[in-house]
Amino acid sequence: MSDDIAKIVLETKQIADITVCKGNLRFKCKRCAIFCCKLGGPTLAENDVQRIKEAGYVNDNVLETSARNISRHASMTQSRLRKREDGSCVFLKFNERLKAYECSIYDVRPALCRIYPFDFERINSNSLMLKFIPCCRGLNDPDGELIDKKFIAKYLLDAIFEIL
Ligand code: SF4
Ligand code: SF4
Repeated sequence: MSDDIAKIVLETKQIADITVCKGNLRFKCKRCAIFCCKLGGPTLAENDVQRIKEAGYVNDNVLETSARNISRHASMTQSRLRKREDGSCVFLKFNERLKAYECSIYDVRPALCRIYPFDFERINSNSLMLKFIPCCRGLNDPDGELIDKKFIAKYLLDAIFEIL
């Protein structure tokens, strides 16, 4: 099964067109953190570093720098959030009352976290293919939100522009 979801055509930092190629895919986060926040700290885009710093969260205990840039996306830096010994991101916490995982910097979380469980690949200079990351448990949940143009515009586009 292809993991392609939609072709997005750009026009100088604006969307010219979105063509959805997988019509009935739904998503609802289970807050399990298994295939996202427990897999190490995310790499940060340039805007992430500034935003998290302005919110007062950045210090030597939360950021680490890789020797080289490991991301294929242009705006990603060599910085990433640190992980704990068990591999979970330093900002992951468990809400005992809700029995669910939460991000303690949710409002300023990195762009990669905001697009998860989706990713994209450049097709050419003005278009990209949105893809899903198949292992996430929230995909194909019948109670989830339909991943259509509205979903993509509402939840994903701002973060995609930060990563591009
Ligand atoms: S994005 Fe997917 S893997 Fe991560 S917490 Fe939500 S359902 Fe679980
Ligand atoms: S910043 Fe928040 S959403 Fe991103 S990996 Fe860490 S805990 Fe998860």
